[in-house]
Amino acid sequence: MTENSIETTLGTPAKFLPGIGSLRAEKLAKIGLRTAGDLLFCFPRSYEFPAPPARVDQLREGQSASLVGTIVDAEIVSRTPGKSIFGAVVQNDSGAVRIVFFNQPFRAEQITFDRRVMISGEPKLNGLRWEFVHPKVTLLEDDGEIKKPRILPIYPLTEGVKQNEMRHYVNAAIDGLCETLTEVLPVDLRDQATAALRAAEIDLRLPLPDICTAVRSIHWPADQNDLAAARTRLVFQELLVMQLALAMRRRKLTTDLRSTPLPASAMLDARIINRFPFELTGDQKAAMKDVGRDMGRQFPMNRLLQGDVGSGKTVVAIYAMMLAVGHSHQAVLMAPTEVLARQHFQTLTRMLADSRVRIGLLCGSLTAAERRETLRKTASGEIDLLVGTQALLYGIEFKNLGLCVIDEQHKFGVRQRVQLRSGGVDPHYLVMSATPIPRSVAMTIFGDVDLTTLREKPPGRGSVNTYLGRDEWRDRWWTFVKKQLDEGRQAFIVAPRVSAQASPTQDDVEVPDEDSATDEDVSSVETVYEELRTGTLAKYQVGLLHGRLSSDEKRAVMEAFADGETDVLVSTTVIEVGIDVPNATVMTILGAQRFGLAQLHQLRGRVSRGTHAGHVCVFTDGEQSPEEFERLKVLESTSDGFELAEADFKMRGPGDVFGSRQSGMPPLRIADLMNDIDVLQVAREIAQQTIDEDPELSDPKWDALKKQLMRRYGKRLDLGDVA
Ligand code: ADP
Ligand code: MG
Repeated sequence: MTENSIETTLGTPAKFLPGIGSLRAEKLAKIGLRTAGDLLFCFPRSYEFPAPPARVDQLREGQSASLVGTIVDAEIVSRTPGKSIFGAVVQNDSGAVRIVFFNQPFRAEQITFDRRVMISGEPKLNGLRWEFVHPKVTLLEDDGEIKKPRILPIYPLTEGVKQNEMRHYVNAAIDGLCETLTEVLPVDLRDQATAALRAAEIDLRLPLPDICTAVRSIHWPADQNDLAAARTRLVFQELLVMQLALAMRRRKLTTDLRSTPLPASAMLDARIINRFPFELTGDQKAAMKDVGRDMGRQFPMNRLLQGDVGSGKTVVAIYAMMLAVGHSHQAVLMAPTEVLARQHFQTLTRMLADSRVRIGLLCGSLTAAERRETLRKTASGEIDLLVGTQALLYGIEFKNLGLCVIDEQHKFGVRQRVQLRSGGVDPHYLVMSATPIPRSVAMTIFGDVDLTTLREKPPGRGSVNTYLGRDEWRDRWWTFVKKQLDEGRQAFIVAPRVSAQASPTQDDVEVPDEDSATDEDVSSVETVYEELRTGTLAKYQVGLLHGRLSSDEKRAVMEAFADGETDVLVSTTVIEVGIDVPNATVMTILGAQRFGLAQLHQLRGRVSRGTHAGHVCVFTDGEQSPEEFERLKVLESTSDGFELAEADFKMRGPGDVFGSRQSGMPPLRIADLMNDIDVLQVAREIAQQTIDEDPELSDPKWDALKKQLMRRYGKRLDLGDVA
């Protein structure tokens, strides 16, 4: 049996590939490269681009350059063993340069008089003449055609594997394997995509290649155009597979699940909307229309309502809940923390005071008896609206649940959808989030969800002035804070972390994502509290709030602040989620480098709730880098949460909130959500169109594509029985 007759497959262990062997295979395994397929799909992290051929008069000292020319002189200058020197002169119509090799006498055999060569390297001036020491030399064909030097792939490396070796191993995989790859994109789909990508002004000179060409070219592109086409093809494929899965899931949710239709009607609408003591914004009206339409269908609404803090999302949620109650169904409102659950409960109680709607609250601080009673009433239908924290609402029994509203969804992790069924039907879902979602994230992680955005702010909201604090301003700022307090206003002070030794609460409430790192570069909220209470703010009443307090303690602290008993609240980001104290107008944020822009934006939203203008000063701890300063400056320059979210996303990456770990989506191999947004858009449109035409992808031409889709997303997106 010859070596060639052993067929390489994607699963062939790397050690069987030519030139690898067990020892190297072990090293490769350390970076997760175990099989031929792993190597083949280990795409370069970047490329080394050869400098384009230059003219002699364009050379700059120390700047790499290539030259094409003819050898006009070549001689071994010194033959002393260990000190041999070989020199030659390369000439073209723009001049001549000298090339030199030390201790490489064999060069004399290749670099001979009259050969055409291309050299590249760093030129140095030696007297009046340009000299290249140890340049890369490519012998050119005699027909005079200029062969370009190759674009070289640069791979992620492991210790003990050199770039050159890695190129060699990947080549070993390409050779046996490339032709055997299954094409998942039929040629007419590739053509359709090419046209659509070009229409979207994506620079694509060559059409999207077949899989074999694409994989070859992503490793060894012939030129930039070839590389662009190969990369775009692989990115498109990856995103298309994802978008097809999402489109299938959207479809599946509408066909497999049943909900009770709870439609809007002119009469219900009037009854609900008359309760609101203000004129709705245009965006709120539009959102209610979306919600009313969704809830009128016999499959579950699956809508995400996003809007900045204070944009009036809760009002839309109340509308939805009242629709359910108007149809004699129950609604539940889930909050991420007990503090927020209570606040929602109070808002609802206030707004529905003169109605017959019965509202219940389920949270950790209830006594066992109270809790039992609430559960009983929920099961019997004596409660119409139930508010609570997610942990407590999980799996409880309803009489006829029609709607589930989830507030501040980003705290939960998106895929972790609550399973609340009652009477064999699914409730409608409305999810509210104040974290503006970047466009690419909306199309991917939230890709199976319908999206409504409240951009318009209700009128009469106080504006917020944001200052980027410099250390030398601290005194002036505290003077300003004290002046505001003396005028009867209240102040927030936010610190990023709790001290490490604080004991974790036994609470059922989800602890918000405050930082409890032990590093000492940022003061803990307790330290800040002690310092202010005994120092700068000694003459005021100061409260302390963080996620490690018990629910009772938290509630007491919040109520004291809301009632004006305390003037100042020192807090972690617990207050990020929805605390509403209109009289609070100043906020000091410490250790701001720890926060994302979107998060800082949410925080400052806390001081724009009333009629007084809000003031926020953002201080960083420790050395501030110029990049850090630039990042925070964006906060000063815009009050649009969406702009900030995009900026954050660009500068910090998707982060925890939208990262693949939290979202439950598999990581992307080659697509980059920040830079490939236009390809994503095209993939989404083509996916939707494809699923509209062939919902189950049952045409045999989709077999391979569907297989890949199910392998990657079937389990995660619960597409089980589609295949
Ligand atoms: P969000 O949940 O988006 O942060 P809320 O729904 O809590 O915002 O609304 C913030 C505040 O604005 C609430 O006090 C609410 O009563 C008020 N509000 C909401 N919509 C309007 C409106 N159209 N006009 C005036 N005030 C409004
Ligand atoms: Mg809210």
